[in-house]
Amino acid sequence: MKQQIIRAGLETLYFTGAHRAFGGPLGGIGAILTLHHVRPARPADFQPNRLLEITPEFLEEMLAWLRRSGIAVISLDDVHRRLIGGESGGRFVALTFDDGYRDNLRFAYPILKAHQVPFAIYVPTSFPDRVGELWWLVLEAVIADNESITLDMDGRARRFDCRDVAAKREAFETVYWWLRGLPTEEALREVVRDLAARYAVSVTGFCDDLCMTWSELATLAADPLVTIGAHTVNHVMLKKVPETMVSAEMRMSAAAIEAALGVRPHHFSYPVGDASAAGPREFGIAARLGFLTGVTTRPGVLFPEHRDHLTALPRISVNGQFQRLRYLSVLLSGTATALWSGFRRVDAA
Ligand SMILES: [Zn+2]
Repeated sequence: MKQQIIRAGLETLYFTGAHRAFGGPLGGIGAILTLHHVRPARPADFQPNRLLEITPEFLEEMLAWLRRSGIAVISLDDVHRRLIGGESGGRFVALTFDDGYRDNLRFAYPILKAHQVPFAIYVPTSFPDRVGELWWLVLEAVIADNESITLDMDGRARRFDCRDVAAKREAFETVYWWLRGLPTEEALREVVRDLAARYAVSVTGFCDDLCMTWSELATLAADPLVTIGAHTVNHVMLKKVPETMVSAEMRMSAAAIEAALGVRPHHFSYPVGDASAAGPREFGIAARLGFLTGVTTRPGVLFPEHRDHLTALPRISVNGQFQRLRYLSVLLSGTATALWSGFRRVDAA
């Protein structure tokens, strides 16, 4: 339902021509795009995490469209320079890929390389270390593989029917958002580890299947087009862990990347990244630790005012449910995100 409302909103803005206010007051100076997986579409009906993937064809289409539209693709170092230098230099986007999926190397890199565009990959270091918990995929697998599941939710035993696709979708929505609402990251992880154990899904197995190794990451890091950024060690929602752990996760992830790849990351992405996962405490710690930029998943384009909030930057998600250039043009015009944020240019509270 939520997806349908967003789609209808984007369609309306497109057909009213609001997006042509490109370079207008809502469009800001540029935007940072969020991507995750890039891989061919898969036929399965139950793909609750599908919003996190686009096809190689759409990436290709998007790059060609950016070029036609005269929007430069620049690196995060250049985004930082433009924000602090206050120079306009024409509209831009920066491409960022979260989590370090192997499909980025296999499918996205050849396209990005052919277009000679810079991009960044934010790596949670436990993923190449092969101990990461991609808990949202564990939940998907548990629901996909079973006819029903049981779960203790807030002290009450619940049983979820997972017999068909509709039931699976409903079970995923309910359990996913209940998990996201738990007060601590540890509570969430305990539930997911218990589910994984009871339904025989490997909690850490997704690292091997889906994430780049350090040596694959080194291949990318050797290319001057690529920026490797930090994304914590354990991919935790930082707002849900104690303060000492916030700085430890940030410092240790930067140190691990530097040790493995020989480059110190200067850019940081907050896992999950919305207001429930990162707030002023995290923005302050990232700045104090010396990161040049920190990106959230709060939706928005960049304005000159962001120079005072360099570790609380918004991004535009290239959502796999909306793989249409016209949605992207609406999002980059800033009209949709301005409506969502009540016309606030900076959202760092
Ligand atoms: Zn992530």
